[in-house]
Amino acid sequence: MSNLSGHSILGFSRSKSEQPFTKAVDPATGETLEPQFFEASSEEVSKAVDLAEKAFPVYSSLSAVKRAEFLRRIAELIEQAGDAIAERGVKESGLPEARMRGETGRTTGQLRLFAALIEEGSWVDARIEIAQPDRAPLPKPDLRAMKRPLGPVVVFTASNFPLAFSVAGGDTASALAAGCPVLVKAHHSHPGVAEIVGNCVEQAARDTGMPEGVFSLIFGGGRSVGVAMVEAPAVQAVGFTGSRSGGTALMNAAAKRKQPIPVYAEMSAVNPVVLLPGALNERGEAIAEGMLTSITMGVGQFCTNPGLIFMPDSAGSAFKEKFSSLVAEAACGVMLNSGIAKAFRESTAAIAGISGVETLATAPDAGDNCGSPAVFSVSVETFLNNPDLQAEMFGPATLIVEGSIEEIEQAIAQLEGQLVGTIHGTEAEIQKHTTLVKTLEGRCGRLVLNGFPTGVDVSHAMVHGGPYPATSDGRSSSVGTMAIDRFCRPIAWQGFPGSALPEELQNENPLKIWRLVDGERSRDAI
Ligand code: NAP
Repeated sequence: MSNLSGHSILGFSRSKSEQPFTKAVDPATGETLEPQFFEASSEEVSKAVDLAEKAFPVYSSLSAVKRAEFLRRIAELIEQAGDAIAERGVKESGLPEARMRGETGRTTGQLRLFAALIEEGSWVDARIEIAQPDRAPLPKPDLRAMKRPLGPVVVFTASNFPLAFSVAGGDTASALAAGCPVLVKAHHSHPGVAEIVGNCVEQAARDTGMPEGVFSLIFGGGRSVGVAMVEAPAVQAVGFTGSRSGGTALMNAAAKRKQPIPVYAEMSAVNPVVLLPGALNERGEAIAEGMLTSITMGVGQFCTNPGLIFMPDSAGSAFKEKFSSLVAEAACGVMLNSGIAKAFRESTAAIAGISGVETLATAPDAGDNCGSPAVFSVSVETFLNNPDLQAEMFGPATLIVEGSIEEIEQAIAQLEGQLVGTIHGTEAEIQKHTTLVKTLEGRCGRLVLNGFPTGVDVSHAMVHGGPYPATSDGRSSSVGTMAIDRFCRPIAWQGFPGSALPEELQNENPLKIWRLVDGERSRDAI
């Protein structure tokens, strides 16, 4: 186990604050884990922000090859710390060791994916319009544009992904890849893993000659230290994964600044699944089994958990029976922390208490901090009349909504924004119900056919986003290489000589990237 100090990492130094912040708790045993973690003082937060501000012009001017070296070194050091991460991570999160190891692989994989993306270089979307001095009636200027990094980014990490959406997770990897220094607000639920990974990032910055301030890790409460980080004038964007209340509080704080800044918050979703009769007839049992795995994976603590299942009332009784019997026998799992376990109990009790809702099955309760799988059902008519039935139950529970296809379409049309929408249907059904598919498309960031919404592949074509409140900005993705766009803005240079332009925009195309030259895609020199 690495030695943990409990102190924030401020550039290349450590906080000296002795203000207690938190001690981690093992949710499986209730045991309090050493050491004490300390809250950074406001002066220390300012110091970290100042360092990030000073690091920005240096870091953003480094070649992509140097930044990629930094990302790859972080990945190597995280791999080397794999045993310590797994040991501490299991204790802090209640997640099994295999999940900690798997998430470590996902984290290092996405760091390397971003390293490869920036090394290849075309992601900057370079566009060149060559001057036409003789154009009539007005001469055309030489115009060249590309994406450039925004500046220091604050990252708030999620409880449910102690690695992949945490200190060196997708937000940090994409912001560092873009050329932005990162200030991470550590999550109180896994401070030990946060420090171990923070040490890896700091060491990687030293090993690869990055400027001090390219990375800091801050311990402290979200509402005090976290908000102060968002309010710091040098900060230019925020990445967040967590609750709707937390995300909207940060959006409000960012909007009230003298210079409002973007907050990319990935928040709540219930991820509707539509089961069509043909699919239920063909493979109803297999869908029930797959659905159980999907709602119970990670004790249901995934933002892509299928929290709503729509079915035609004429076709679903065998599925309902099978699925309910599976849920009744499912294992109860330890949740990430006592707050999340309590919120899950309260949200399932609230759904069960709504008039017209039937509790179809609940698994036996295994006690404190455990989440018991549960399935409820309701008519689409009741669903349409009660917006509370759209509330996220963050844990292993789902609500079946039954009605006609037309009513289901109507219900989907009035859903809040979602991360994922899933349909199980035969090819003929998909062709027949094009309006249903289009309606779902309008509410979601990703559509899944004959699969399950959980399991988010980290790749170039992944979209992990969706209209509010799935995210604060449905034009973005927080997973996959599209995530880099959140931390950039386009800049155009008009009339500049090649010697004063970024390499990406010079006539010779020294980086051999793909560019849009007078409207044509090309890797040629001009
Ligand atoms: P959270 O409570 O929103 O916390 C995430 C981060 O934001 C933490 O660092 C927290 O600080 C900070 N924060 C929270 N509220 C804030 C506020 N009002 N102002 C400033 N900072 C704030 O999320 P969580 O702990 O991961 O999980 C809690 C609930 O969020 C769950 O029960 C679940 O409903 C939901 N959730 C949703 C998703 C999703 O992807 N849809 C993922 C995870 C959780 P502290 O460390 O000081 O708490």
